[in-house]
Amino acid sequence: MKKGLLIIYSGPSGVGKSTILSKVLKEKDLNLAFSVSMTTRKPRDGEKDGKDYFFVEKEEFEKAIENDEFLEYASYVDNYYGTPKAYVDSKRSKGKNVILEIDVQGGLQVIEKCPDAISLFIEPPSIEILKNRLIGRGTDEISVIEKRLKQVKREIKTAKSYKYHIINDDLDKAVNEVIEIIKKEMN
Ligand code: 5GP
Repeated sequence: MKKGLLIIYSGPSGVGKSTILSKVLKEKDLNLAFSVSMTTRKPRDGEKDGKDYFFVEKEEFEKAIENDEFLEYASYVDNYYGTPKAYVDSKRSKGKNVILEIDVQGGLQVIEKCPDAISLFIEPPSIEILKNRLIGRGTDEISVIEKRLKQVKREIKTAKSYKYHIINDDLDKAVNEVIEIIKKEMN
């Protein structure tokens, strides 16, 4: 059986990447499996353990680092986030195209370790528009938003080595672009 693709999917917080991805994941032809990350961040309203993330304490995360359980991990706005290796390997060996929704620091680690990975970066039309979206979402305090915006500017700079850049100024258009890229890479 042909091994599945490894797809790195990143973009600044609030850029709409989760909304795009939830639509892309519904495309059955793409044969995708979403990699559930481990994090020390607290769950937001509606998030489920084992589905959105595996929510753990710092000690448990650090133990997983010691045991070399991660394909990559990074520290992002005071929390750890990491991709458990076992899930990715088992799905890919079954022919599934595994998608990693991870930040740029993690993405660059995977690009380095796995040269066959494909990388997609979702960009906001502008920083101003992104700021308004984050405020509108109302899930984070303004101090956290300011911190995240600084991070966004850094992320866009660092993501230059990603293969595909998609600007999310229109949701359906962005969804279609992502679908077409994956289809092209599958062939
Ligand atoms: P959030 O707290 O908004 O869910 O995620 C914050 C950032 O961490 C997002 O950019 C998200 O893509 C990223 N992230 C989620 N899981 C992982 C992971 O396993 N590794 C890395 N490096 N980043 C992750």
